[in-house]
Amino acid sequence: MHLAPRIMVTGGAGFIGSFLCERLLDRGAEVLCVDNFFTGTRTNVAHLMGNPRFELMRHDVTFPLFVEIDQIYNLACPASPIHYQFDPVQTTKTSVHGAINMLGLAKRTKAKILQASTSEVYGDPEIHPQEESYWGNVNPIGPRSCYDEGKRCAETLCFDYHRQHGTQIKVARIFNTYGPRMHPNDGRVVSNFIMQALRGEDITLYGDGQQTRSFCYVDDLVEGLIRLMDTDSSVTGPINIGNPGEFTIRELAELVVEMTGSPSKLVNKPLPQDDPRKRKPDITRAQQALGWEPTVKLRDGLEKTIAYFKRLHEGA
Ligand code: NAD
Ligand code: UDP
Ligand code: UDP
Repeated sequence: MHLAPRIMVTGGAGFIGSFLCERLLDRGAEVLCVDNFFTGTRTNVAHLMGNPRFELMRHDVTFPLFVEIDQIYNLACPASPIHYQFDPVQTTKTSVHGAINMLGLAKRTKAKILQASTSEVYGDPEIHPQEESYWGNVNPIGPRSCYDEGKRCAETLCFDYHRQHGTQIKVARIFNTYGPRMHPNDGRVVSNFIMQALRGEDITLYGDGQQTRSFCYVDDLVEGLIRLMDTDSSVTGPINIGNPGEFTIRELAELVVEMTGSPSKLVNKPLPQDDPRKRKPDITRAQQALGWEPTVKLRDGLEKTIAYFKRLHEGA
């Protein structure tokens, strides 16, 4: 007999997943972490291995999986452009076949399933800030499409399983999230700038650096995901989860240089194709449905993130 909820986290050995596993264990759950270690590592969850309620399974979600669980957080998918463009066909398979398998599992076990979707479903948005009713401006055939369209199709599958089979779904549209345990070489802007600053290398601004992003600290994000999973079946989402504080990439670079006391200089590099110009979540729905909003300011979150990368850098 199971008293504690049995919760599966796919992509649980990744950056966000590892914090989610930790928080769920703290709440008393049994956690099954499923990962193929493409971008995640055992190191990210090494501190959880001694917990008898934690289990780590190597598995690729593009293949069927038969386990008995109560909740599924489906996070498996590489998230940084470098990683998701490394094997774009596998990225689409992970999002689409992965969603089909996890939804099939949710249907059979009557588990609730939360899908980690993304602000990328809005593409290069024509409205600002982005609210959930916006359908997006996505290039279906560009280098980012394997990720964007894969995630859009995963949302479609969630809503079709919900309408067709009554599956309990929760779709979270996650905006740029940062914190410790980001992969140091994943090319994402926060990890790149901090590593460049710590090494005294040039800080690479793609384009003129005037494009904007809104950065959410990982603790805030995880709290939002758990609150969404805990809602009753009337709440399906999609719900934006992110921090509405909006910064230009140049402002972020200047802040990282200041906070690390680095001698690094800012240099301009070509802007990647289809790079969104602006991004900022409208979080009204999350505030109303979840009573959630972010609490960690960029400077405070960066301080913890810089401390993590400093330890990595000095240990290397
Ligand atoms: P991450 O790369 O650190 O984590 C993804 C995890 O999924 C890794 O552990 C990886 O090994 C695993 N994985 C990849 N393909 C798999 C497969 N086929 N089978 C099993 N495991 C697989 O990235 P993250 O930033 O922690 O992102 C987690 C989720 O959140 C992803 O779905 C991502 O799309 C979504 N998301 C993240 C952000 C962000 O800013 N970090 C923004 C929007 C959405
Ligand atoms: N699936 C799974 N685990 C389960 C139940 C289903 O991995 O516990 C997979 C199953 O192999 C199938 C997919 O999920 O490929 C979709 O399942 P569903 O029952 O919706 O479709 P069907 O099996 O009828 O194609
Ligand atoms: N970026 C940058 N320099 C870098 C890495 C990223 O200027 O070294 C820019 C990138 O072009 C984009 C923004 O920072 O405009 C965020 O990039 P990231 O890859 O982190 O996430 P995403 O584009 O998916 O939001």
